Amino acid sequence: MKWTRLPRALPVLLALIGLFFVPSAHAWGCRGHQTVAYLAEKHLTPAARQMLDQLLSDHPIDPQLKRWCGNSLSDSFADAATWPDDVRAERNNGPWHYIDIPRDKHGGPLAEFCGPDGCVTRAISEQFAILKDKSADSAKRAEAARYIIHFVGDLHQPLHAVNNGDNGGNCVPVKFFRHEPLLAARHPETESYSPNLHQVWDTEIVERDMEISSPQRFADELDEKFRAQIRSWQDAGIHVENWAWESHERAERAAYGAFPKKISIEPNVKPVTCAENNHIGKRMFDLRLVIDDAYQHQAENAVDESLAAAGIRLAMILNDAAK
Ligand SMILES: [Zn+2]
Repeated sequence: MKWTRLPRALPVLLALIGLFFVPSAHAWGCRGHQTVAYLAEKHLTPAARQMLDQLLSDHPIDPQLKRWCGNSLSDSFADAATWPDDVRAERNNGPWHYIDIPRDKHGGPLAEFCGPDGCVTRAISEQFAILKDKSADSAKRAEAARYIIHFVGDLHQPLHAVNNGDNGGNCVPVKFFRHEPLLAARHPETESYSPNLHQVWDTEIVERDMEISSPQRFADELDEKFRAQIRSWQDAGIHVENWAWESHERAERAAYGAFPKKISIEPNVKPVTCAENNHIGKRMFDLRLVIDDAYQHQAENAVDESLAAAGIRLAMILNDAAK
């Protein structure tokens, strides 16, 4: 459940829900985000490497901060990849992690889908401007680096660039192999289920794909597998909005469109709970969607390409910021 999609106008409800529910899913989970970072590191220029080493070591992450992904990694760059999820609640900037592009939209400017509290494409641009400004406060630049390392990963999680009246798939219960979707036991009235489509794209599909690879090793594998495409991603340059559309189309093709059963286009709303939008949670549950070997196999192709592109593009942005 990614309750950070709730409107900011409902902080009390958010706080209450936060008390009762399991911790929210984090885009790409820990190992996915770390993979993106390790891959990017392999493509940094010496100038970017030096700038980031300096900023991240001068302004380390607060050792008191509770880290969702466990003890901090010795590699401060990869460690940065998961930090924005650790401070998302206290900074109240959940909307920076995604952009709600309606499922039936297929191009054009993204500004209309970026809410008053921001979105991932705008957050990347804003943090890039801070990082690039050598006269800006260095603590702020270190934060900007950590945000960018995370958000470029988030942008490439297809379910972070789409909404189908279902909070980016959070209200779409799925059976994941042998695991049936279960209703949130303490708040059945929310019609929230786990596993759901958003959650499995954040974490379970990636974990199954990586098998026993460490994020570092998986980054090496992706670097090898996508050798031919890496050049074309680099040649295409930095176009954050295009990347969002690419992620959006990937969600349509590999996440929503890959079930034998058709998921219809929903009204463009953002339900506070999955009971809204005419009981979207229950209606989607009744579709009895299943993620099996066939779905997983095609999803892995999409995940691999997304993670690889994210790593390469992250390096491009950071290299540019260091120029
Ligand atoms: Zn995130």
